[in-house]
Amino acid sequence: MSLQPSGLRSMNQFGNRMPDYSSAGEASLAPVRRTLLICSFLTVCAAAVAYYRMNAAAPAVEPTSDQAAENYDAIIQSAVNNALSVPAASEWTRAVVARGQTLSDIFDQHQLAPQDWLAILELGGDCARLKHLKVGDVLRLRISDGELQELIYPLDERRTLDVRRDERGFEATTLTAAIERRTATAEGTIEDSLFNDGRKAGLNDRLILQFADIFGYDIDFAQDLQAGDRFSVVYEQLYKDHKKLRDGDILAAEFVNQGHVYRAVRYVAPDGTSAYYTPTGQSLRKAFIRTPVDFTRISSGFSLHRWHPILNRMRAHMGTDYAAPIGTPVHAAGNGRIEFMGRKGGYGNVVIIRHGPKYETVYGHLSRFRRGLHAGSKVEQGEVIAYVGMTGLATGPHLHYEFRVNGIPVNPVTVTLPRANPLPPQQLAAFRSEVAPLLADLDQIDARHAYASASPPP
Ligand SMILES: [Zn+2]
Repeated sequence: MSLQPSGLRSMNQFGNRMPDYSSAGEASLAPVRRTLLICSFLTVCAAAVAYYRMNAAAPAVEPTSDQAAENYDAIIQSAVNNALSVPAASEWTRAVVARGQTLSDIFDQHQLAPQDWLAILELGGDCARLKHLKVGDVLRLRISDGELQELIYPLDERRTLDVRRDERGFEATTLTAAIERRTATAEGTIEDSLFNDGRKAGLNDRLILQFADIFGYDIDFAQDLQAGDRFSVVYEQLYKDHKKLRDGDILAAEFVNQGHVYRAVRYVAPDGTSAYYTPTGQSLRKAFIRTPVDFTRISSGFSLHRWHPILNRMRAHMGTDYAAPIGTPVHAAGNGRIEFMGRKGGYGNVVIIRHGPKYETVYGHLSRFRRGLHAGSKVEQGEVIAYVGMTGLATGPHLHYEFRVNGIPVNPVTVTLPRANPLPPQQLAAFRSEVAPLLADLDQIDARHAYASASPPP
């Protein structure tokens, strides 16, 4: 553990993974969220692949052999057990969908009657999913005397389609397996970078990005990270039939940065939306993003006295100029309503957004506005409202950005940004009881750490 330059370089690598993390500070969360979304998607894909591999590794069903049945997916087992007659071992066949294959191709391949796949697709409901088979999908077919008796197809990690022949034709059932959610913990000390030390602690990249995103408004992981900082994470692991499917989301997290303790807990509101809060129910989100544009450099800072290059005289600069190419999207810094949208003197094309009674943000020198927006439109934090230009009194393409508190411009780079709305008071009691065990988990990790660092190894 050290503050060697190599360690610091690694931290910058982390910064590079998330563009603008160091320069744009809090404004860089949009790319982080994008990355996070992509990561989530990849994780789901990986889970799906793992699921199919798991199935691929499973032996053909042999209900007469206890051992084979034990290894077998419980859903299929129950489907088999529920069958009116116990099928013979040799009747199950596994078909893996190849590129371009349809259900009819698979039936052809197994010399099954084409009227059967037609009849199954006609059942509709979840059977319609069989019209859109994907490469690698696995179908299990129970065939008796050259005739399809049963077809099993996993719809997702929880649900399995089971189609069985009966006297009248086919009947389809969707079986749902219970997903068990277990809690896991990980902890570590920063020696190198959040990525490397997070991985060492057993966290996957998605969880590490989620961790960085949770604390992203409070901690700049590219600049504020120090060797010796500590992290603890309580997260979900999803299991099906006692087999791990994948890691879920972070439930609680702690980061001790330069001696300051930050804690976050996840809370699912009654409307089903989830967010991370401080242990007292304060939002971990800020009401405003720091920088509303991906800029190349700050071309002019906030100043009460500066030489105006066009007016050729001293004039206060009530905002910050972010140099960026013409056409770069400009994002609303916070939720609000457009108060003004149009041309206004030296500002050129300008958007003014009102965020409640206290705050306003101003975006000047725009080349154009986003289609469909007008004065009175509601906008959300991060939404594109316009594009960088150089209209009005501007010597080059840039965004002139102002942050006004009670009508008075303040420095948007240094102003203390208010937090997003805390939990409504009527949810606080439910919040406290839900997060208490998570906070206890964090306390336990802390206690373990304190004990470990107090007692020297034997
Ligand atoms: Zn300006």
